[in-house]
Amino acid sequence: MDKRTKIVATTGPVSENPETIQALVEAGVDVFRLNFSHKSHDEADRAIAMIHDVRKKLRKPIAIMADIKGPALRLYGYSEKIQIAKGQELIIQSHDPIGIESSKSDEAGTVFTNLPNIDRICAIGQKIILMDGYFTGKVVGRGKDSVKVKIENEGELRPKAHLTIPGADYPIPFLTEKDIADINWAVSRDIEFVALSFVRCATDIEEVRRLVQRTAVSMSKHTHIKLIAKIESAKGLANIDEIVQAADGIMVARGDMGVEMPIENVPIAQKSIIRKGYLAAKPVITATQMLESMIENPMPTRAEVSDVANACFDSTSAVMLSGETAMGKYPVQVVSVMRSIIDTVEKQFDYLDFHHDVPPEVQNGDIPAIMSYNAVSVAYRCNAKALIVLTETGHAARLLSRLRPRMPIYAFLTNEGLYHQMALNWGVTPFLHSGKGTRLDAVVDEAITICKKENLLTAGDKVVIVAGLPLAQQGSTNMIRVETIE
Ligand code: PEP
Repeated sequence: MDKRTKIVATTGPVSENPETIQALVEAGVDVFRLNFSHKSHDEADRAIAMIHDVRKKLRKPIAIMADIKGPALRLYGYSEKIQIAKGQELIIQSHDPIGIESSKSDEAGTVFTNLPNIDRICAIGQKIILMDGYFTGKVVGRGKDSVKVKIENEGELRPKAHLTIPGADYPIPFLTEKDIADINWAVSRDIEFVALSFVRCATDIEEVRRLVQRTAVSMSKHTHIKLIAKIESAKGLANIDEIVQAADGIMVARGDMGVEMPIENVPIAQKSIIRKGYLAAKPVITATQMLESMIENPMPTRAEVSDVANACFDSTSAVMLSGETAMGKYPVQVVSVMRSIIDTVEKQFDYLDFHHDVPPEVQNGDIPAIMSYNAVSVAYRCNAKALIVLTETGHAARLLSRLRPRMPIYAFLTNEGLYHQMALNWGVTPFLHSGKGTRLDAVVDEAITICKKENLLTAGDKVVIVAGLPLAQQGSTNMIRVETIE
């Protein structure tokens, strides 16, 4: 059986060529992430053309995720690296975001930020982090729209360095002009997922959903884009319940999370987010530094292997690679290593025990949730080889996926975009069917024929079928049927 936990890989200079994209898919990648912090639309167009070619050639469901930069704070006003000495005082001055990218500070030791009224956000003693933890400092003075920060270590401050004020709520708009352009690009290219950085509350997601719909209407398109909320700030974590409800999936973005909040809280946040995503039947991606040492080395550290394995034991839907596949020395090997960790965990996992522990709110819920839980119970009792789900939107497949059944979930859809989207969902292998059958028997026959042709089912196997009648109507899962393959 194929692995159940999915792999997301970030593309970059070492992987954006047809041979490597194909090798990555063959090694186990299910979703490619295009990171718009580092990508132009031309580069992204070239990457998606390669991914589309490979998924067509290999006839595989592969999703693409555009990761949008979001409301990050940065330092501006200098174009060359600045040498910083330990104990040096740096003045950070708020600047109008318009024109800030090309601004130049006249004062040595003064830099600009796109955060307005920085003096009102930082009290004396506030911790400041620059370049994702490379520099730390404390606010020692406040002026009009500026703060003085005493830096605690030495080094070179890069242009456009990331500024973090741990625990602060940044009063800046959620979407920049670049983000809006990137989201519009994603809609125009029928990308399967958009990941949103630094989501703070449900309203941020609702704003993007409205933008996606407006753009789709203006392009006369029907969009299926799903929105993944990246949780990476204290505010996002505090509002996790409303965010899980508003988003279609969640990413535990441990990189920025470990800077924005105390690093020792990251594992607790990770477990809690995975659990909340599980309860809501929304996929959760565990991200960042999973096999980081393989950027340089052919083997991971033991701690990294344990990290990937523990995320799987915690029931993450997917694990993600960033620099490892974007700029590392071993982009394909790292995916093979990740896959073998997943395979090993999945061989050990006690699926039946998990099923017995499914909480009452998951067993019950609405009719589709009740049907899904009972379909898996029936599958265990009759020792079924697989679950087949006929699903219009993918929702019925996600409800089965949440239950983490031991048997594979073969999801049959008619829409190609939704078929590729299913690549992110734990344990789901999607298939396209013709959609011609209007009678249940005809569609079930077609699904079983496809499974037999793919050597997934053979004579004598039992299979549990989950569907909604009338067919092709959304949210109507109301039927369980057991078939023995002839
Ligand atoms: C992260 O911070 O963990 C993350 C996934 O986001 P990015 O790679 O965009 O910083």
